[in-house]
Amino acid sequence: MLNSVSIEIENLYKEYQKKGKKIVALNNVSLNIKEGEFIGLLGPNGAGKTTLTKILTTLLLPTSGEAYINDISIKEDKKIRKIVGAVFGETGGRSLYYRLSIEDNLLFYSTLSGLSKDVARKRISSLLNYFDLEDKRKTLVMKLSTGMKAKVLLIRALIPFPKILLLDEPTLGFDAESSEKAKDLLNEFNREFGTTILLTSHNFPEIDELTSRLILIDSGDIVEDCPPNIFKKTAVQEYVHLMFSLPPLPSDGFGMSKLPTEIFKKLVKDQAGADILSLKVKDSFNFVFEATIQPITYPLNETISRITVLILRASGEIFKIAPYMPSLKESFLAFLALNKQESLENKETDLNEIFTFPIQEEDV
Ligand code: ADP
Ligand code: MG
Repeated sequence: MLNSVSIEIENLYKEYQKKGKKIVALNNVSLNIKEGEFIGLLGPNGAGKTTLTKILTTLLLPTSGEAYINDISIKEDKKIRKIVGAVFGETGGRSLYYRLSIEDNLLFYSTLSGLSKDVARKRISSLLNYFDLEDKRKTLVMKLSTGMKAKVLLIRALIPFPKILLLDEPTLGFDAESSEKAKDLLNEFNREFGTTILLTSHNFPEIDELTSRLILIDSGDIVEDCPPNIFKKTAVQEYVHLMFSLPPLPSDGFGMSKLPTEIFKKLVKDQAGADILSLKVKDSFNFVFEATIQPITYPLNETISRITVLILRASGEIFKIAPYMPSLKESFLAFLALNKQESLENKETDLNEIFTFPIQEEDV
């Protein structure tokens, strides 16, 4: 059963009408997600992530197209809701009963999902303990902080051990420690229960560490679909910064020793398959150089070991090796900048601008 298709999305198209204007939120998206996959859904504000997640959880109907979860059409909302757990962090605690306690909320939703009271109680108390909320179980939801409400929403989604988790910014408002806990727990659900997880998050380390496949959407289109490490390599180049010495070449006949830079460049190209982006003389008396080198033929680590041996063999000395690997956030920003070069050309791109939340009308 493992690796059979869990979510099948065919030409999903969604448009909204806003003040007589048509907004295309999903532009014929097609996608297959296998059972047990842990997927990161990434994209700038307004890309269509929430729309996609809402359609899959039956909260919204598509304008056209189809989607199936475990071969059940998303039009069969009752059946879908039995197998899917969902969190929408952006809308906060709206989907909880404000005048009920945490425990009563969770008990109510557990009963809806068909769990016996006994099983529900055990899971609720275990998960409240895990997220340090046990002493708050009798507290009314309206008295909770945003982060606490977010935790309750996540717990609610996990309690039935759903086959599929659709999480739209579930850790919004979490502090750093709870974020780590949520991350570990999701990882464990995926590993232990084979839960298929689609996670939208602007917490890049979260996506980077957890997911094995990254889906990038922009303006309703899937623009990238690959493992996070591949994405990082394509969007921002990795390189290594080196400081080293090389013995001088024999005198050129005028009493001056020649710098070995040309030979070094050739060796790096031929034997390490890499490009030298910059090469500076740091200390011409002791023949110390600084170089920035970009791997072309081999992975970064292999490039570094090839260059190390090359310098060792030439009787040089290495003083510093500083590899640089882009973070997912850098790659994502670089990717967006490339994709939207025109609109961003004269604009300072900063994170706050990209990650502020859109004001949107709710249909749920
Ligand atoms: P994301 O979650 O990636 O930020 P959304 O799915 O929320 O993106 O939004 C996709 C697009 O659809 C945006 O342009 C947004 O303004 C628009 N949109 C979302 N919900 C509504 C709505 N209820 N009415 C009108 N437009 C909407
Ligand atoms: Mg959203």
